Amino acid sequence: MFTERFRSHHDAEGGLEALLGNSGKLAGKILKMKSWSSVEKKLRESPGGLARGVYIHVPYCDRICGFCNLNRTERGAADLDAYAAYIAGELKTFGAYPYIKEQPFSAVYFGGGTPTILSTEQLSRILGALHDNIPLTEDCEISVETTQHNLGVKKALALAALGVNRFSVGIQTFSGRGRKILGRTYNDQKALEELRELRAAFKGVLGIDIIYSYPGQSLEELSEDAEICVSSGIDSVSFYSLMIHKGSALYRSIGNGDIEFKRTVEWDRERHHLFYGKLKEGGFTLLELSKLARPGRDAYRYIHIQYENGDLLPLGSGAGGRLAGFRVYSMAPGRRFVSPVDKRHERYYRMLGEFQFGLYDAAKMAEGLAPETENAVREKLDELESLGFLNPAPGAGPGARVLSPDGVFWGNNIAVEVLGAAIHAAKKEKKVYV
Ligand code: SF4
Repeated sequence: MFTERFRSHHDAEGGLEALLGNSGKLAGKILKMKSWSSVEKKLRESPGGLARGVYIHVPYCDRICGFCNLNRTERGAADLDAYAAYIAGELKTFGAYPYIKEQPFSAVYFGGGTPTILSTEQLSRILGALHDNIPLTEDCEISVETTQHNLGVKKALALAALGVNRFSVGIQTFSGRGRKILGRTYNDQKALEELRELRAAFKGVLGIDIIYSYPGQSLEELSEDAEICVSSGIDSVSFYSLMIHKGSALYRSIGNGDIEFKRTVEWDRERHHLFYGKLKEGGFTLLELSKLARPGRDAYRYIHIQYENGDLLPLGSGAGGRLAGFRVYSMAPGRRFVSPVDKRHERYYRMLGEFQFGLYDAAKMAEGLAPETENAVREKLDELESLGFLNPAPGAGPGARVLSPDGVFWGNNIAVEVLGAAIHAAKKEKKVYV
């Protein structure tokens, strides 16, 4: 059914934009933007009760990894004291608005770049401003993305004392050869030692990132990565098939022949199933299409808020979010792009979110859809089940299905396939909602 695999949720989101006819229209959207005063007006009102989180972006890394296309830049001469002061100031400014201060936030996410490029003192300043100005639920999830060399046990414990209860550590592989190809800082032994030390010391949620299907990766190398994930006591693992982004160092090395890399879907699929199977055997369950976790150990609340179209207050240069009925993109101090949320887009984005978590409940997905559209979704789910991508989900209600291992592998394609059926039917009916 599928030939080219969508490897990440970003690909699926791109597929959704294409289906809605929004591709390539970003510039047009920006020109039609609202002024910041429209958002401010709403921020002076009371909140509407949506789930809510804070996203803090730190766009710097001390070196750029060969495979990366994230929104980041090499630190260079950036003034990190000034950046921490800017974020702390933003927290104070937003914390004064009724919309922010009248309802607690249940998740805070530091993403990047590398948030831990900031020193413990700089991060303390931000976390202090967070606690002083933003109401947080008692069990608020406070996550920090990090590389290993920018963290270390001492810093991790200092941040834990300030409320950080979840780290997501970019490791990518424990293979020495693979680490060289991916441009990681530590060698394999040091990476493993530091992970073990961190696990022993830090009692919160500890997740790591693993990349599979990198050039020349053997099944033995991947097996070893999977075994370390299971034995090291981590709580969750994000696992991504390597994406080769135009303009990255790896793209250039492959292009000029320094690194040989030709992979087929079958080669990728074999590695996916090996890793997924070993983690399942080791007691992990599917948390997201590209994330596995020990049961009950990693709620990853932040991502649920995002897919539920909750409020995500975006702070820092390059942070995007949703606030008080607007999409907000923070560019630099004092510069923000704002556009009103598109209800149609949000309806389908929510459906896309359901697919990310791997349990497809036809009844839930059909909520609010017009009859023909609902039928089109059900028929598409039946077809996907007949092709072996979905299985009935025992105990989860009539019509609910879970993904087979092939369904997980093709999960982002499946999401776009079902959304395509829904959007096509809705166009014919000329409406989305009943
Ligand atoms: S540390 Fe992370 S964000 Fe920075 S370049 Fe490497 S992969 Fe990208």
